[in-house]
Amino acid sequence: MTEAEREYYPAGAEWTTDSRIIDGKGCRYWVGGRGCGRPAAAALNRGRRGRTLWWCYCDDPVHLFGRKVENGVVMDWRVKR
Ligand SMILES: [Zn+2]
Repeated sequence: MTEAEREYYPAGAEWTTDSRIIDGKGCRYWVGGRGCGRPAAAALNRGRRGRTLWWCYCDDPVHLFGRKVENGVVMDWRVKR
């Protein structure tokens, strides 16, 4: 999958870049037996049943599960048709 085959669009409300949520937080992506720890660029709400539980991730596209942060917005992608 190359960048050219991807079409990006703003991710859903389960993603945020709100500084009140990510400031001072480290990336929780698991790397080599521990959390990545780089400064967070975005957070994913992993809460269930109406609860809010933010997990923070850095700007590494792998740690954002293929997403990226652009102008303060988390961008999701789909295959371009
Ligand atoms: Zn990371």
